[in-house]
Amino acid sequence: MTPSAFAAMIAERYPSSRLDHLHPGLCQYEPVRNELQGLVMRGGSLFTLETIGTSVEGRLLSMISMGTGMRRVLLWSQMHGDEPTATLALLDLLQMVLLHRDDEWVHTMLRGISVWIVPLVNPDGAEYRQRRNSAGIDINRDAHALATPEGKALHAACSRLRPEFGFNLHDQGLNSVGESQIPSAMALLAPAPSADRGTTSTRLRAMRVGALVSRILEPYAKGRVTRYEDAYEPRAYGETFQASGTSTLLIESGHWPGDPLKNHIRELNVIGILTALRSIANGSHEDTELDYYHRLPLNGKQMVDLLIRGVQLRHPSGWEHAVDIGVMFQKSHDTVLIKDIGDLHTFGGLETVDVTDRAITTALLRVDAVMPTQQLFDALQIYRPYPAISFRP
Ligand SMILES: [Zn+2]
Repeated sequence: MTPSAFAAMIAERYPSSRLDHLHPGLCQYEPVRNELQGLVMRGGSLFTLETIGTSVEGRLLSMISMGTGMRRVLLWSQMHGDEPTATLALLDLLQMVLLHRDDEWVHTMLRGISVWIVPLVNPDGAEYRQRRNSAGIDINRDAHALATPEGKALHAACSRLRPEFGFNLHDQGLNSVGESQIPSAMALLAPAPSADRGTTSTRLRAMRVGALVSRILEPYAKGRVTRYEDAYEPRAYGETFQASGTSTLLIESGHWPGDPLKNHIRELNVIGILTALRSIANGSHEDTELDYYHRLPLNGKQMVDLLIRGVQLRHPSGWEHAVDIGVMFQKSHDTVLIKDIGDLHTFGGLETVDVTDRAITTALLRVDAVMPTQQLFDALQIYRPYPAISFRP
């Protein structure tokens, strides 16, 4: 079966396999740990659960593993506590393997690879729905100093397991596909192992996995996979593991219009990661054209959460004109940041609303200022619900 045919099979079976009761709000310590314990209980000898450390506040860091193959793969997610999409995808993926444990593809895959998964690197951050750990440190800038117990535990796991492949799983902010007005659904990067951003054989292997993920997601992501900015960050885990010989791919979950809980992005992760694992197991990832990685459009900055078109803007001097307003929802959606005012026809909105002829005074609006969402909506007579919680980093 080709990787594309395999991906199609996964896509078809996903809706009946996914853990429907889970959602981003449940990606916290207790629910995730319960889920892992449930998987191990149902899976018997299929999975092994171990504790690789504790967080600053004493929460256990869990790692679940499967497979007996030669090729070793380490995946980790939610190193940033407020980035839960891949955690859900990894739990779905484990459930999928469990449900299909008698299928030939599961047997073959688990004979070819050994997989270790740390699905919640930052449980304290998840508890507070914040990026950083409980001590206020960004764990993904701690790969060098290893000051945080969470980062230290991940580093120790990687040193002990010596994986050939690594998957570093995050959520990204709102980006466009290049200069288009379409949101990026997912961004990929094989991070550079050194400041000169050279391509070592380790990095090249990661690029091939990225090329494979990009290629097989084409029918599902519809041209919305992008490349994450290639800026060398020596304190990050991707760069550090890449330098130490683990071919590491960064996957940043993005956005899809009308999908605030990121269900579609979660599905893209499952299809992409499971197909990549299966291809690593049988070596077929090596056949992927690197062009599928190099040709990816870059992450762009042409997007806002809400684009309000046709606002009549009034100045006390008497000047008035029709303008667009670009708005970003803040963490709790009851406040918004006014990102830009003026001609925003080159921008796209995750959501767009046309309020032609409705007026607002300049006194109410200031670029880069945060204001209550309800105040803006009332002023412009916009009556629409907005999600109570954002799961955006
Ligand atoms: Zn992140």
